[in-house]
Parts: sequence; structure tokens; C-alpha cells
Amino acid sequence: MPHIQYLSPLHMKEITHYINGKQVSSDRFMDVIEPATGLAYAKLPLGTQADVDAAVASAKQAFPAWSALSTEQRAEPLLRMAQAIRNQLEDLALEESRDSGKPLWLTRKVDIPRAAKNLEFFATAIQHQQSEAHPMNEGVLNFTLRKPLGVVGCISPWNLPLYLFTWKIAPALAAGNTVVAKPSEITPFTSFRLGQIAHEAGLPAGVLNIVHGTGPEVGSPLVEHRDVPAISFTGGTATGRSIASLAAPMFKKLSLEMGGKNPNLIFDDADFEAALHSAVRSSFTNQGEICLCGSRILIQEGLYERFRDAFVEKVKHLTVGPPESANSFMGALVSQGHLQKVKDYAQLALEEGGTLLCGNEPLELPQANQNGYFMRPMVFEGLGPQCRLNREEVFGPLVTLQSFRDEAEAIALANDSSYGLAAQVWTRDLGRAHRLGEALHTGIVWVNCWMLRDLRTPFGGMKQSGVGREGGWEALRFFTEPKNVCINYGH
Ligand code: NAD
Repeated sequence: MPHIQYLSPLHMKEITHYINGKQVSSDRFMDVIEPATGLAYAKLPLGTQADVDAAVASAKQAFPAWSALSTEQRAEPLLRMAQAIRNQLEDLALEESRDSGKPLWLTRKVDIPRAAKNLEFFATAIQHQQSEAHPMNEGVLNFTLRKPLGVVGCISPWNLPLYLFTWKIAPALAAGNTVVAKPSEITPFTSFRLGQIAHEAGLPAGVLNIVHGTGPEVGSPLVEHRDVPAISFTGGTATGRSIASLAAPMFKKLSLEMGGKNPNLIFDDADFEAALHSAVRSSFTNQGEICLCGSRILIQEGLYERFRDAFVEKVKHLTVGPPESANSFMGALVSQGHLQKVKDYAQLALEEGGTLLCGNEPLELPQANQNGYFMRPMVFEGLGPQCRLNREEVFGPLVTLQSFRDEAEAIALANDSSYGLAAQVWTRDLGRAHRLGEALHTGIVWVNCWMLRDLRTPFGGMKQSGVGREGGWEALRFFTEPKNVCINYGH
């Protein structure tokens, strides 16, 4: 591991927690590294149990007033936050790109606009929420009250930092809860900025609290806190398992969005160019560090060689480079540790008998990026469904190609996974599209598209990819407790 170098102290940025409407520092810090240069550029306060306790206490104090507001009143500061994010798009996009290594064009186009959209979507959705009524025999009416839960914990990962952070916080706040949120310690910068934005937008003190630090020091105390009845988590399956084992005996409400090993099925009747173009995007956008990336590409045997050759040719020409360059399709991986993990999987692929089709071409990087965490996108073939490469989540720019005979074999291969997050199907046969939509064991099936997102739809995975769903009413239902009130008004 190279020795970490630091920016001059004058240029080091200091991140603070955001607790009870105030910026709170610490006496212990961790370096935040810019993946594209390997330089430490910011200091992250390492939160503790005491910080979590203070954040939960302030959220608890803020809850009665916040939950008593009308939905329009709660929407106002959330909409102002959305607008502030739009107004600061360029700064936030630069900060997100620097913090995560992902290309600036992507943070400008996707990450930051989507963060604004999340807040806007739930601030307006809550104003349209309805609940059910169940009239019984004459004189008796049941109706469902949906009440906020109280203080909820939101824990998010590093791959889409502000995007996923706001995807949880927005519905939680809109539904009337107060929040203690923990962003990833690897990419904390834009969540730090969200605290400032919330403050400036007039979100009352204590309604949103952001505590930085590691999983064991901040995440676990939050999960275990007796005043936090619900946890919404996005991250790795192993972490989700450990959170579930802490939270389940305390009977907490849990939403878990976890890993994936997503199949991308290409049938021989597919629109070849569209499937090809999309396969490149869905394999390598954001350096393959999106839970929805398709990492197992399954191709019908008659099309296999033609598709493989065209795919590899395109991947060889993808540009990997500085995140700020408009020409870089891929930037840097998020950390030295993650880069090493992906490289270890590449080595394992060779040991398992795979053939590397591309990925060992030299990287041409400017001097400033020589210590950054870059790698070229890799494509392997010759690995069977039982190989670890086809079973374990790599979460980087590394995909495998396999062939299948017919629809039945395609479904069997796609479903032969402990994960079940998302699948893609490329076919022009409408009947097949519907059959696969039903047969695939994933929470999301995209037919002839990828990452086409409507925020109203249920979002999440089956099996080891998740428990529960986010998005639209699903999220608002998670963040509320339904209560049936039965009135006998006939007597
Ligand atoms: P991670 O599980 O290591 O960390 C996620 C968050 O959990 C971080 O904030 C971390 O500090 C915290 N954490 C770690 N240990 C904890 C503990 N014991 N208790 C409480 N919190 C703890 O995940 P990551 O490496 O940041 O993210 C990558 C993973 O996230 C991949 O597996 C990816 O598939 C998954 N992901 C899933 C989705 C989805 O919607 N299903 C979306 C994005 C990412």
C-alpha cells in the first residue's frame, strides 16, 4: 500500500457532524482520500456512541413538533433543500466526483440532480398520500391511520453517496419522522454539505442529524439504540446480515437494500445494437459500482460469438481517466482496498479457468493521477455458473460472459444465484418478455432497457439482495405505522 500523501494543511477540508442544527466536531479524525489522486484531502470526524446518543436525543426532542406539522408545512423546507441542491449543482457535482472518483459528467447528470429529485418527489408525494377505509356492516367503519414512527436511522453506502442518502432521508422526513443518518465514511463529503443545506433551508434543528464515522462506532450504536424503532439500510449483504441480527431481537422495523449479481440476458432476437450499447453501460457505468449493474452477461448461443466480439471491441475502447475529463467514461474506483478486491477477483477468475478477453491494456494517466485507483474494464469468458466469479458480488468493472441454449436454460442460469436484485432481458418477443418478467427471481426486471427509473415504483431485491422495498408508496409505508381504527357509530 503506498504511503498516503496529504494536501497542505491549508487545503485540507474539515467535515463536521450535524447534530441538533449545529456543526459538531470531534477530537478523532480519519483521512478522506480522493480516489483519483490517492491524496488525503479532508478530515472526517470519527463519531462515537456519545454522538449517536446526542443525535437521537435531539431527533427525539424535535419529533413532536415536526410530526404535528401539516404535510404542506413539512414539504416546504424539503422543497427548499431540493432547490438549494439544484442551485449548487456544479459545486456538489465537483465534490461528489472528487470524493468518489466517479466522472464529473455522471455526478452532474445523475447523482446530484437525482438527490434534488428525491427530496422533491417525497415532499410532494406526501401531499397526495391516502389511506384506506373498510366499511363493515351498517354503523361500523374501519379506517387506517398512518402515523410516523419517531426517530429513524438511515445508513447508506459509498457508491451513490448523496443520491442514496437522500433516497432514504426524504421519505422518512416527509412522512413525519425525524432522522439520524449515517453516510459512508468512504464518501462523506456531500452528506456533510447536506447538513449545511438543511440548515440554510430552515429545516428545524434536530429534524435531520448526520453522524459520521465507521460502521462499528456509529452504525451499530444507531441500530442498537432503544429510541430508534426503524432502520433503513443500503449496503453490502454481510453488513445487512449483521444489522438484522442486532435489530431483529429488538423487533425493529428493517428495510435492507443489499448486494447483487445481476444477470443481463441477451436473446438472439434482440435489437443487437441496443443490447450491445446498453450492455457496455450497464456493465461499466460508475466503474461497475452500481448495485444494479449487470455483471453476468448471458447470451443465446447462436449470437454468442458475434455479441462477444462486438462487446469486447467496444470495451477495449472505453476511456478510463481523470474524473473531471469529459472524455472519461470511467473514473477511479472508490478506494485502494476496493481496487485490490476487484483485482483479486480478476486473479481468481484466471485461477478458476477463465479467459481474459480485455482489461490488461495499459492505462494512460496524467502525472497527477498516477497514484489514483484506476483500472481498465475487464471481460472474462469460460467461467461456469458455479465459479465464484459468477456467484459473488465483485462490485467493480469486471463482467463474465456465458452462453445459453434456450429460454428455459436462460431462466435457470439467471435464477441460480443467492442474490435477486435486478435483471435485464433483451428480446423482441413480447410473449417472452412477459414470461421472463414473471419467471425471474429479482425485484426489478428491465426489458430492453436499463436504469430506466420511475420513482413511484417499488425498488429493491429478493433473496440476499434485500428485505422490503423503497420508492413511492412503499417507502412512505415503511416509514409509517398503520393503525386500524374501528368505529361502531351505530350505537
Ligand atoms: P457496506 O455494507 O460496507 O457499508 C454500508 C454502510 O453501512 C456504511 O455507511 C457503513 O459504514 C455502514 N456499516 C458498516 N458496518 C456496519 C455495522 N456493523 N452496523 C451498521 N452500519 C454499518 O457497503 P458499501 O461497501 O458501502 O457499499 C457497497 C454495497 O452496497 C454493495 O454490496 C452494493 O451492492 C450495495 N448497494 C446496494 C444497493 C441496493 O439498492 N440494493 C444500492 C447501492 C449499493
